[in-house]
Amino acid sequence: MPEEDSHLPDQTRSQAHPSPGLLARDSRNDEWISWWWKILRALIGGGGRFPLKLGEPTMRHAVFLTAALITSLGACNPPTDETGDRLARLFSGDMTVIDLTHALNATSPYWPSARGNPFKHDTLSAHPSGAPSMAAYSTPEHHGTHLDAPIHSAAGQPSVDQLTAADLFGPAVVVDVSAASAADPDYKITRQDLLDWEDQHGRIPDGAVVLMYTGWSQKWSDYDAYKNQDEDGRMHFPGFSEEAAKFLVEEREINGIGIDNLSVDAAVGPGFPAHGIVNGAGKFHLENVANVHLLPPSGAFLIVAPIKIEGGSGGQVRIFAVVP
Ligand SMILES: [Zn+2]
Repeated sequence: MPEEDSHLPDQTRSQAHPSPGLLARDSRNDEWISWWWKILRALIGGGGRFPLKLGEPTMRHAVFLTAALITSLGACNPPTDETGDRLARLFSGDMTVIDLTHALNATSPYWPSARGNPFKHDTLSAHPSGAPSMAAYSTPEHHGTHLDAPIHSAAGQPSVDQLTAADLFGPAVVVDVSAASAADPDYKITRQDLLDWEDQHGRIPDGAVVLMYTGWSQKWSDYDAYKNQDEDGRMHFPGFSEEAAKFLVEEREINGIGIDNLSVDAAVGPGFPAHGIVNGAGKFHLENVANVHLLPPSGAFLIVAPIKIEGGSGGQVRIFAVVP
């Protein structure tokens, strides 16, 4: 959703769940320590699952980095979860990585606006062959595959540079509503859809990024189909309902939500309730996510890496899914 369309009615803002703020972020330190512990154990040969032969410099780095981590976090626990095992398997080649990012170019779909296509990419210098050696680009923060930082829809919430790795990395939950979305392009995912997902795959894990798969990413190369405007110019694509957004931030401990089209709110509106609720709770959105159809409903792990614009309301993001 672009900034000019992001002004939410006060009523919507007031419904937003209060943010758990930095306390919730700090509470996940234990998980990070656990990861680090398992990686180090694998590096130095504990458990024998890591095949590398490492010399003293690496060991010194490991000890130094561990000391730095302990100093910065102020605590250290033994491993207590499966995350470290998943990372160890990644390094040993037992996992695949899927890029959930559309390439950004001048034909990428954008939020229709009187100002036209907002993306510019100009060659500054070129090789003798004509291939660019350096270019300059300009783009709104909310264009292409991008992240909405909490401040996007909720003043006082973190900007994109203030989000930490603990905020941005997390297990992926993929809720496939592509059939319902094909039948009704104004479909809004319901609380019941999420409960049905949990009946099949278990409770949405803490720290999850809940991705709504609508099938819209398949239309990425067809801008008209992607924005799906009617005769009056109104767009039609699916999104999160207000009740689903509330459920996720009030009854589950998610990190964020995402969708494979232009906005986590359905285009038909009214307003942008999911934006106000999820950003209002200090959580982020991912929009125009690619390749969601390649992910399992559960079990994948997301590495979300947005551009670090100081004070930014969001920005282009590279998203990788690590899939067992
Ligand atoms: Zn956005």
